[in-house]
Amino acid sequence: MEVAGSLNLVCQRCLEPLAFPLQIQARFLLVPVGQSWPDEELAEDGFDAIAAEKEMAVFPLIEDEVMLALPIAPMHEVCATVVPEMKEQAPSPFAVLAKLNKS
Ligand SMILES: [Zn+2]
Repeated sequence: MEVAGSLNLVCQRCLEPLAFPLQIQARFLLVPVGQSWPDEELAEDGFDAIAAEKEMAVFPLIEDEVMLALPIAPMHEVCATVVPEMKEQAPSPFAVLAKLNKS
C-alpha cells in the first residue's frame, strides 16, 4: 500500500497552519484465519501481518497507517510568526500610589 499526499495540520507551537507531507509505504502479509503467524520473518521483511478475510475494507487499513505516521505534536521546524513574549507586567497600583504621595 502506498499513501501520498499532504495534510493540513496545526502547528502546536504557533497555532498556524502546517502542511504535513505524507508518504507512506506499507506491506501487508495476508494471513488466512486459523493459520499461524510467522513472527520472525515479518520483522525482517518489514511486513505487517493482517488477518485475511474474503472481503476486506481497505479504508481502515489506510486510516491506521496514516494515524501511525502522524506526529503527536506537529510543529514547524522554524515557526514563521514569533510567539509573542509575555507582556511586561504593569506596575502594581501600590507602586503608582507611592509615586503620587512623593510628589
Ligand atoms: Zn509553528
